[in-house]
Amino acid sequence: MLNIVIFGAPGSGKGTQSAKLVEKYGLKHLSTGDILREEIKADTELGKLADSYMSKGHLVPDELVIDVLDNLIGKYSDAKGFIFDGFPRTLAQGEALGKMLEKHGEDIDAVLSLEVEEEELIDRLLKRGQISGRTDDNRETIESRLKVYHAQTEPLKEFYRTKGSLKNIEGVGSIDDIFGSIEREIDQIGK
Ligand code: ADP
Repeated sequence: MLNIVIFGAPGSGKGTQSAKLVEKYGLKHLSTGDILREEIKADTELGKLADSYMSKGHLVPDELVIDVLDNLIGKYSDAKGFIFDGFPRTLAQGEALGKMLEKHGEDIDAVLSLEVEEEELIDRLLKRGQISGRTDDNRETIESRLKVYHAQTEPLKEFYRTKGSLKNIEGVGSIDDIFGSIEREIDQIGK
């Protein structure tokens, strides 16, 4: 399997680049944000609970997302590989992901970190809010999500750097140029 984590702050372009990865490499895209938004739309118990955190820009508790991911990794164990988008977001989730993959004799091949400066992130998210109507793309919630990103998610970079899987990708430029940098990193894995 080819297992890629697409990592970065809110607004860094994880979803956009994931779609291109799916197209080129035929990987299974697991976006915890998309999965949780589906649950909210379907008005499930998990959705109601998730919404109470997401609408404030807080993280949904680790146990909930880890459980969802564990089930999906099992369900799609015959996939060519996974793109983990928006997961892991905490050190506990990072450790859990390693263990979940290990159960299937798998590992993470690369963590692609999309690097975009803060002002550009805020700009992109405010614009997305006007177009997509995502309720968490408003100034107050964006600020909260960026704070949460720095406090809880960014430490994962050191975690993966130590493991040797972290690859920094310049996240500003054309979508195709950014994808070009991603392709070069993936080609080096040689799978
Ligand atoms: P963005 O990266 O722009 O914030 P996402 O769709 O990845 O967009 O996430 C939206 C929200 O969903 C997050 O702010 C958080 O509340 C929740 N969420 C998504 N993934 C996770 C996760 N792995 N752990 C906890 N909460 C999550």
